[in-house]
Amino acid sequence: MTGFRVGSATHTGRVRSNNQDSNLIADRLQLYAVADGMGGHQGGEVASALAVETLEAAPPTEPTSDALVEAVKRANAAVFARAGQEPALRGMGTTLCAIAVVDSEADPDTTEIAWVNVGDSRVYLYRDGELLQLSTDHNLVEDLRRDGQLTDAEAAVHPQRNIITRALGIDADVQVDSGTVVPYEGDRFLLCSDGLFNELTLDQMTATLRRLADPKEAADDLVRQANEHGGRDNITCVVVDIVDDDRAEVASAALAGTAAGIDADAPTRAVPAVAGSDPDLAGFSAPAPRDGDLPFGRPSEDVYGDLNRARTRHVTWRVLAFVLAVIVVLGVAFGAVGWYAKRTYYVGYAGTEVAIYQGQPGGLLFFDPEVKARTGLDRTDLTDAEAQAVRKEQSFASLTDARSFANRIRADVEDRRAARTTTTTRPRATTTTRPRTTVPPATPTSTP
Ligand code: MG
Repeated sequence: MTGFRVGSATHTGRVRSNNQDSNLIADRLQLYAVADGMGGHQGGEVASALAVETLEAAPPTEPTSDALVEAVKRANAAVFARAGQEPALRGMGTTLCAIAVVDSEADPDTTEIAWVNVGDSRVYLYRDGELLQLSTDHNLVEDLRRDGQLTDAEAAVHPQRNIITRALGIDADVQVDSGTVVPYEGDRFLLCSDGLFNELTLDQMTATLRRLADPKEAADDLVRQANEHGGRDNITCVVVDIVDDDRAEVASAALAGTAAGIDADAPTRAVPAVAGSDPDLAGFSAPAPRDGDLPFGRPSEDVYGDLNRARTRHVTWRVLAFVLAVIVVLGVAFGAVGWYAKRTYYVGYAGTEVAIYQGQPGGLLFFDPEVKARTGLDRTDLTDAEAQAVRKEQSFASLTDARSFANRIRADVEDRRAARTTTTTRPRATTTTRPRTTVPPATPTSTP
């Protein structure tokens, strides 16, 4: 069973003298709506109020999307009739967007959220940190934009963006867009009039819904920000949060997590997805294309594709973040081992030549020791003791220390060479000078 937590706010704004927006919060009917009236000083107010009053007084006769559409058509008929009766209200009209709980066509044991729209008020779905517009605006500028005749940037500031191509009360019948969404705990539906989204960017609206978990606080803050940014039109917001009646605590936790930017993920999903198709797409049904939109009407864009892409993108980002974290950890570990492996030096043999190595004797993991300097000394130049000392591959903290060690050996070797040169004509046994030794040469003859 799907439950709601709902908050709403409406404001005249900072420029208009009266508020022609209306909203409907009918918890008993699980029916929520926003209407934005137009047509003269009084007409707009009457039209939007009459539309939501009719929707409440004659709600859908059964929990289906089609019944919700029929209820909107009754509201249209009521506004149209009233406009025809009173000359002062002639030409009045209103937008209307609404959501309601309906039975799932695919699985009668589960419920879905149906949305309907006529005009340029909007139904958004906030899910997984993203705000997606479910409804399509029926206005001239949006039609031109979708037709490729205006860029997004041009459309956003176009002076005629308030000219709507569909409204309730203009004709005896009206085309109503509709669609359904399988709700998950933590989902937030935002219904609003154009006074909100013409003042705030999608990012600003998204950030607010992410930041404020309480639906009333979120609605109030959205209206406050719209006024801060100019408040050039009436502003109305209805925020409807999905909670699960049977698992209220889980829902609250999930909601709080979502609001705090923490992932309230799949395990808390309230309604099973419809089987038999791509799991990400399950539960979403696109609105039936309808003919006969006013001047520039076209079939709606693929918002369900957007929804699906948003989820995919979300998962992709999460996976990417995890992979990056692993790479960073491995990189740091690799760097630390490398640093440790290369921080010392030793003197050893490169083939038969004595050389100074950087690294650990025998290597460490992937880090093999590296020859930093060659001495030109061959193993055969060394005495047994020197050869033994080099074979021990003693570690030194710095290259300088390792060089000193090697230089001492080299000096001894050179001394011996020098000595050999000067004593070539004499047997080695008679060598008398050992300049490098600290002990003075032994007296050739003993004391008598
Ligand atoms: Mg408006």
